[in-house]
Amino acid sequence: MKKLIAALIFLLAISSQAHFKGPVLYVAAHPDDETMLGGILGRLKEKSIPTHVIYITRGEGSKFNLITGNPKDNLKMRPGEAREAATRYGIQSVTQLEETDAPMRDPVTQKPIQDVEKFLKSGVWNTHRIEKSVLDLAIKIKPRVILTMLPFHSKIHAHHQAAGQIALKIAKNPELKSSVVGVYGIQETNWYPEGTFESMPGQMKFETERYSPLLGKTYRAFQAQGAAAHATQESGHKGELPLAYEVLVPLEEKNGSQEFRELILAKPEEKR
Ligand SMILES: [Zn+2]
Repeated sequence: MKKLIAALIFLLAISSQAHFKGPVLYVAAHPDDETMLGGILGRLKEKSIPTHVIYITRGEGSKFNLITGNPKDNLKMRPGEAREAATRYGIQSVTQLEETDAPMRDPVTQKPIQDVEKFLKSGVWNTHRIEKSVLDLAIKIKPRVILTMLPFHSKIHAHHQAAGQIALKIAKNPELKSSVVGVYGIQETNWYPEGTFESMPGQMKFETERYSPLLGKTYRAFQAQGAAAHATQESGHKGELPLAYEVLVPLEEKNGSQEFRELILAKPEEKR
């Protein structure tokens, strides 16, 4: 009998080890960047995985404000929208940095430039200060997984790539090396024409059209509900996104990342 109990305890121990428990840290450039993985945030929420977000800017660089009509109000309004979205998404903490959100714009197209090297060299962001803030937070919460934006993709906003590069860099810090088992970037598939993002090795596709009994809706609807908190921005008015999936790309993976992969790829769990 004693042997049986010992065996049961052992089995329980290994089965509980096999489940990803977090925490997760998302390193983002602007308020509303978290909407890009709103469905995945639903998966983290239903599993009660502590999730934290750090925004590098307050999003004042947006050229419009759909509530007041004055983009100057974004500086004050967008961090509040991000906090409301975080509540809806089940995010445990929001850390708001105050780097300048001044996109360097292409003189011809007026779109934010995509040249991340040029942007980082411009000094608009104090990268040393950002790295310190992200690292201090990460040391405090000890994330198992860091989510961020794609650090090296020539088509996306330079701020997004810069956030990804900063996240990758701090994950290598000796103080975090033992806790972080994976760093993943989000493909911005719903915001660019089809074919912008080539298939990447080891990528994980999270189907958002599935119904989550624990959330009481599909992951896609959950994404839209969180995004609607960004009422000053277009991102808050999109409703359910056209594509019914979100894609995470491994930027760095170590032993232990399998648990996170299983969490992302598993079927929705029934309510108990
Ligand atoms: Zn952004």
